[in-house]
Order: sequence, then structure tokens, then C-alpha cells
Amino acid sequence: MSPREQLCEYGRRAVEQGLVIGTSGNLSVRQGELVAVTPSGVALDRLTPEMCPIVDIEGYLIEGDLQPSSETPMHLAVYETTAAQAIVHTHSVFGTVVATTMTELPAVHYNALLLGGVVRVAEYATYGTPELAANVRAALEGRQAALMANHGGVTIGATLEQAFEATRLLEWLCEVYVRGLSVGKPTILTDEQLAAVVDRALNPPAFPRRTP
Ligand code: 13P
Ligand code: ZN
Repeated sequence: MSPREQLCEYGRRAVEQGLVIGTSGNLSVRQGELVAVTPSGVALDRLTPEMCPIVDIEGYLIEGDLQPSSETPMHLAVYETTAAQAIVHTHSVFGTVVATTMTELPAVHYNALLLGGVVRVAEYATYGTPELAANVRAALEGRQAALMANHGGVTIGATLEQAFEATRLLEWLCEVYVRGLSVGKPTILTDEQLAAVVDRALNPPAFPRRTP
């Protein structure tokens, strides 16, 4: 699939899976010095490849008749300082709830490690601005995910599939935390417990083979 075709496919999945409503959210895929990005103000399940603009890494429009996403400066800022090849930004419900009430998503589940650890909430700034781009870039340091205060979430990956799966995981973690709050006080994993998970993942015990 070409980068533009991938945007259509994952845009459709994002809407289908309830991660995105209407025209909120945007996706991009980097290929060398070029970035294919979703157009501004178009529902992500209505995209065709030709509708998706291509910009260069400095933000100049190279191809396409529609305007690139208003968050293109954020996408480009992240590409500038990370190895990311794809970015997903959504206003998913539970992510936005956490981003509206907390400064970070506590480690309620060890799978937070798959996103690099405790997910930070980037400081609020108006959508589409260089300030928001800078805040998100800072919050993403050493992570595959960040939340955006009073706005939503953003994830990165080596492929759009990876970035999309990270968005699904981020939303799941936020949902577990928010639903946990309605039952009781969620227990937060300690640094020691998280370190033990990393150790276990790096050194899995080998199952002994039964010999006849
Ligand atoms: P665009 O339609 O311009 O991508 O904007 C949606 C959005 O999520 C802004 O933060
Ligand atoms: Zn947004």
C-alpha cells in the first residue's frame, strides 16, 4: 500500500473503531523527505488517496489540491526529532478524559511499558500552533505516545500500523484507568515492579523440553 492508501485504510479503521469522530484527528506517513498527511476538515472514513496532500519535511505543499491537516506542524516537529515514520492523532474519549484531568497517565498496567512508560500529558496550546507542536514533541521524548491537555492523544511508530496499534493501546490504558476510578482507587505499579517486567521480558525463562 502506498502511504496515501495507508492513510485511507487506517483513517477508516480509526472511525470504525470509535477512536475518531467526524473530522477530528489526523494521520501521516513519512517517506524520506516527504510526508503524506490527511487533509484538513475531511472525515477520516471518506478519504481517497488523491485527497491526501503530500508535503516536504519543511512543510511546503508538494502534491494535492486540499489543505494539509492543521496539525501538520506538529507531525513535522515530531519527525524532526524522532525516528518515527508514522503518526496518529485522535480525540479518543478516554484519552481525552485523562488529558483533561491529569498531568500524566499513571502506570496502572504493565503494558504501559509498550509505549515507553508513564504517558505524559503535553501542556495545552491552541490546535495547529507551533506551541502545541513543541509541547507534544517534549512530552513524546523517549515515548511512543503522549496525551495532549484538553485535546486528545498522539502516537508514533516505525509504520502506520504500529502507530495505530499504539493509539489503540493508549486508549485501552486510559479506559482501564478511568473505569478503575469508578470502582475504587486504582493501584499504581511502582518503578520497581515496572523494572521487574522489563527484566522478565528481556530474560524469559525457557520451557524445558520433555524428553521421551
Ligand atoms: P484537521 O482536520 O485540520 O486535521 O484537524 C483536526 C484536529 O484534530 C485538530 O487538532
Ligand atoms: Zn486534534
